[in-house]
Amino acid sequence: MNTPAELVRQHLIDAEICIRCNTCEETCPVHAITHDSRNYVVNFEVCENCRACISPCPTGAIDNYRSVAKSKPYSIEEQFSWDELPPQADPGPTAPSELPEDVVRITGIATSGQGGPNLPPWSAAHPYESLHTLARPALATVSGNYRLTEDGASSAVHHIVLDFGRTAFPVLEGQSLGVIAPGLDAGGKPHHVRLYSVASPRNGERPGYNNLALTVKRVLLDREGNSVRGVCSNYLCDLKKGDQVKVVGPYGTSFLMPNHPGSSLMMICTGTGSAPMRAMTERRRRRAAFKEGGRLMLFFGARAAGELPYFGPLMKLPKDFIDINLAFSRVPDQPKRYVQDLIRERAEDVAEMLCDPECYIYLCGLKGMEAGVNEAFADVCRSREMIWDQVLDGLKRDARFHVETY
Ligand code: NAP
Repeated sequence: MNTPAELVRQHLIDAEICIRCNTCEETCPVHAITHDSRNYVVNFEVCENCRACISPCPTGAIDNYRSVAKSKPYSIEEQFSWDELPPQADPGPTAPSELPEDVVRITGIATSGQGGPNLPPWSAAHPYESLHTLARPALATVSGNYRLTEDGASSAVHHIVLDFGRTAFPVLEGQSLGVIAPGLDAGGKPHHVRLYSVASPRNGERPGYNNLALTVKRVLLDREGNSVRGVCSNYLCDLKKGDQVKVVGPYGTSFLMPNHPGSSLMMICTGTGSAPMRAMTERRRRRAAFKEGGRLMLFFGARAAGELPYFGPLMKLPKDFIDINLAFSRVPDQPKRYVQDLIRERAEDVAEMLCDPECYIYLCGLKGMEAGVNEAFADVCRSREMIWDQVLDGLKRDARFHVETY
């Protein structure tokens, strides 16, 4: 009689839809993910199945598994040679009642870290995903490239408008796309795809046109302040009107806005993380005449007013349309202020919105802000005799809390 094979769940990446954006490799805390010029792969011996890489992956290529015999997982070399995932092999004789639950193959939706999928708001419009791939990218034409930050500002942030002509590239507010910079890296490999949030509403940067805008900061320093020239950001910021750009996507199925009348948005962002907030705000502004929206509350952090993308247009919005709270961190002779400080200052309104089942919360920008914002929410809850962890569980369960930080 054959002995039942001991099965385990092996984490794999779908080469067919992976756009090689490097997000998974950057995210993996134990460095289990690596790549060659063809594929991104997961080292079975190193992967701890912590799932930290799942949610950030824009395509869902990362969220794939196969049940394999523990003694014979797919090696890295095998995975490098794949064009597509292998079918689920017949594992041979098994003892099903003894299998751990997670041996079952689970499919491609990013999860919320609570065991469930990362869901969009119930009234979100249906997003299109991955219509244009690395093998067949869309070609967009630059129809505008404007500097948003003041000339004397420490960084140059650009508003870049891409026109898709007669190519379908439907997006919703909150979705992102990938840009392929031309050329090869120092190792002779194609550059990674870089992801940018769409800064325009679904009906176009110019309403009724097949165009959209990106908010791109020219990267000249790394996070430690060392000199570095960001490949894709400099490519995009240098583009001229009429230039053509290869684009993949769109991506994103959960960081989407609700559409039902009476729904409110609390938007918290830093720097260029403002891109999706601009898209959502502009969507609401264009529909303001329908009087269908609930509240809009914005917490926006930048170094100074001159560094804040869209400062001018933002300041023109009526106060009864959007409640704007700006935190500036580097204004001479002023104390450093972050978005989390303003959340604490506005505790009463924030608590009200946390408790409002029609309020959806969006957080986008620097990774570092996430912990600070969570602590501020915890303080707000504590002062109202609520427990943030419990509130957060409820927000996630109801798809009311959406985070996109890098
Ligand atoms: P930045 O100018 O470096 O920073 C913006 C503000 O955030 C500054 O006031 C900064 O203060 C503050 N800040 C720094 N650490 C913070 C913390 N722990 N908590 C709260 N605030 C903090 O920002 P950026 O370079 O534009 O970065 C934006 C981020 O958004 C990037 O990580 C980018 O990848 C991401 N993003 C971009 C897009 C896009 O489409 N372009 C989309 C989504 C997300 P200091 O004075 O202390 O630095």
